[in-house]
Amino acid sequence: MLDTMKPSVHPVHLVGAGPGDPELLTLKAARILRAATVILVDDLVGEQVLGSVLDGCQNRPRVIHVGKRGGCDSTPQHFIEKLMVREALAGEKVVRLKGGDPLIFGRAGEEIDALRGAGLSVEVVNGITAGLAAASTLGVAWTDRRVEAQATLLVTGHARPGSAGPDWDAIAAVAGTGVTLVIYMGMSRIDRIVGRLLETLPADLPAAVVQHASTGNERRLVTSLGRLAQDVTAEEFSSPAVLIIGHVLVAARLDASRSRATTHVRTC
Ligand code: SAH
Repeated sequence: MLDTMKPSVHPVHLVGAGPGDPELLTLKAARILRAATVILVDDLVGEQVLGSVLDGCQNRPRVIHVGKRGGCDSTPQHFIEKLMVREALAGEKVVRLKGGDPLIFGRAGEEIDALRGAGLSVEVVNGITAGLAAASTLGVAWTDRRVEAQATLLVTGHARPGSAGPDWDAIAAVAGTGVTLVIYMGMSRIDRIVGRLLETLPADLPAAVVQHASTGNERRLVTSLGRLAQDVTAEEFSSPAVLIIGHVLVAARLDASRSRATTHVRTC
């Protein structure tokens, strides 16, 4: 008797919104968003992405913005987790919508643990990560056997407080073997990051920055590692942006020099 009065509890979905272009949202993500009753949205998710899905949708979910950017926590992580648990246990169809892919620098691990710890089931819907959108706008691959780029390393430039952060010596060492570096959240520390990499890597190693990849505000610049920090400052690039460093960019640099109208090029 009591059981029939309990709300039915649905799995919580962690959904990737992709890098910003609404057309890069997966069909599965759109279906799950349309069925949601509560959506918790990160501030990296553009208005157009959610708007494009919910436009004309009969079901009007409650949309809660839980933005966090550049280390300034506007909504503490534990609060987001508690909110998801509370809403899901109350019978809501909860979606946590995150920029890019939820499993890449998205704190999904902590959220999955918190949800499972509360007895909830969790389903992840992948999205296109920003670093891939950056590579496609540059017209390069993450890996390219012609230049011995046999692996790609995704690195965060922003470690949690108290952490020593990435081991830039080790990262530079692998980049020296041809591994492509894709650095997220690196803009506020670009001088320090590039300085550390230059202790090991050559200044003429190709490097690029892509801001707002896949959106109407997209900007990109292809340069060298030696000039990356100064070019990024001079051209006033800012977050959200990814840095790509490696020989895969050789093709982009050649291509960019043919179309200077749309791409800033610095040659070393
Ligand atoms: N889960 C996300 C990453 C979140 S970390 C993903 O898979 O893409 C936040 C960082 O992602 C930003 O600081 C920036 O480095 C990068 N980023 C997110 N959206 C971006 C975009 N449209 N263009 C360039 N970089 C972006």
